[in-house]
Amino acid sequence: MLTTLIYRSQLNSSCKSFSLISLVEKARHSNAALDVTGILLFNGVDFLQILEGSEEVIETLFVKISQDKRHDSVVELMRDYGPRRRFENVGMLLFDLRIDTPKSVRDSVLRYSKLDNYLAAEDRVFKFIQRFIHQQKKAPGVSSFRPDKWRLAPEHAPFGKTINGLIDNQVCQFALQPIVEPTEGKISSLEALIRGNDGGSPERFFNAIDQDKVYEVDLLTKSYAFALAEKIGIGDHKIAINLLPMSLVNVPGAVDYLMDQILFHGLQPEQVVIEVTENEMISGFNQFNSAIKQLRAAGIGLAIDDFGSGYAGLSLLTRFQPDKLKIDREIVSNIHLSGPKQAIVKSIISCCTDLEIALVAEGIEKIEEWCWLESAGIKRFQGFLFARPKLNGVGEIHWPQYTNAAYLSD
Ligand code: C2E
Ligand code: MN
Ligand code: MN
Repeated sequence: MLTTLIYRSQLNSSCKSFSLISLVEKARHSNAALDVTGILLFNGVDFLQILEGSEEVIETLFVKISQDKRHDSVVELMRDYGPRRRFENVGMLLFDLRIDTPKSVRDSVLRYSKLDNYLAAEDRVFKFIQRFIHQQKKAPGVSSFRPDKWRLAPEHAPFGKTINGLIDNQVCQFALQPIVEPTEGKISSLEALIRGNDGGSPERFFNAIDQDKVYEVDLLTKSYAFALAEKIGIGDHKIAINLLPMSLVNVPGAVDYLMDQILFHGLQPEQVVIEVTENEMISGFNQFNSAIKQLRAAGIGLAIDDFGSGYAGLSLLTRFQPDKLKIDREIVSNIHLSGPKQAIVKSIISCCTDLEIALVAEGIEKIEEWCWLESAGIKRFQGFLFARPKLNGVGEIHWPQYTNAAYLSD
C-alpha cells in the first residue's frame, strides 16, 4: 500500500561537517532501488523529510533513519496512505532554506510535485511543508530536552515506618506509588493501589469477589488505605485512592463513611484525592454528580484518571473540571517520538492551564518521556522510572539529577 511518512529531526550538533549534498545523492540511488520517492528540507538546524513508498519499505527505512547518528530528536509527524505519490519523479531532493528564500522553496516544491496550487492548499503533506518553511529555526519545546544530561539517583522515601509483607485480618492489601515533582524533589502524593491477599492485581481481586458486592467492597476497603497511610506516617502528604463512581452512588452513606474513616485515621479531607477514570465518569455522570458535590463540600479532592484513554476526552471538561487530571500512559508513552501525541498533550496542557487543573503524567518509564513532558510544562509524574508501587509501603524513589556528562544507560 502506498505510504507517505513525514518526520522532523534536528542536526546532531556534534556532527556539523558532513555534506548534505552527498547524503542526498546517496539516498537518491538507494531510494531508486527501493522505489522510494520524496524530498528533504533543511533550515540549518531542523530537517523535515517526506518519504513515499510501499508500507514495508517505508517502515524499514524509517527504523534505519531513526538510528542514524547524524540527526536526533526524530519525531514522526504523519503516516498516511493514498492513491498516488506527490513526488513521483523525485528520488530524493534537497531544499536548503539557508540558500533559498521561503518563497522560492515553496514554488520549487510545488513545481516538482504533482500538486497544483489549488490542490496544495488542501493537502496535509503540503501544509506540513509550508509550516516548516515558515517556522522559526528551533523547534518549540525542545530547548531543554536533554535526556542525555540526566541520571537517576535512588533515595529512601521519607517515611519512618515500614511494614514487612501482608497485614493480617484484611480482605485485601494496598500498594503505594508516589506521584513526584522531580524538579522540586518533592512527593506530590501517594496513590493507593488495591492488591489481593496473594499480592494479585486489582483486576484479579475484583474478579474473584461476588459481583453483587463489588461496589461495597470497593468502598469499604478504602479504610485499609487510610489505615496504611496512618501506619507508615504520611504526615501532611496527600493520599490518592481509586474508586468506581458507583461505589459512591450505590452504597448508602458512602461519602459519610469515607469522611469517618479519613478522620478516624488522623487524616484531613483536604489530604485525600479520589481518582475516577474518564470512562466510568462519563457512563455514570448524572448519578455521580450529587456524590461529586458531597465530596467537594467535604473538602475531598477529585481527579480524572486515565484521561485520554476513553471516548470522552476534552469534552468531559466542558461538563466537569476536577482538581487534578492524570494523562493516560497510552498518550505519554514514547511521546518524544510522536508528533500526534505531542500535539494532543500540548492541547491538554493549554486547556488545564487555563482552567487551573493540576496535571499528572502517568506511566513514565523513560527519561526521554519525562524530559519532553517536563520541557512542555508538566510538573507532576508517576511511573516506574521514578518509583514502583510497593506493597504496604513506599519504595525507593529515583530522583533525576542533572549532570554535565553524557547519560550512559546500562
Ligand atoms: P491506575 O489508577 O491508573 O493506576 C496506575 C496503574 O499503572 C497501576 O497498576 C500501576 O502499577 C501502573 N503503573 C504505574 N506506573 C507505571 C509505569 O511506569 N508503567 C506501567 N506499565 N504501569 C505503571 P495497578 O496497580 O495494576 O492498577 C490498575 C488499575 O486498577 C488502576 O489504574 C485503577 O484504575 C484500578 N484500581 C487500583 N486500585 C483500585 C481500587 O481500590 N478501587 C478501584 N475501583 N480500582 C482500583
Ligand atoms: Mn489511579
Ligand atoms: Mn491511571
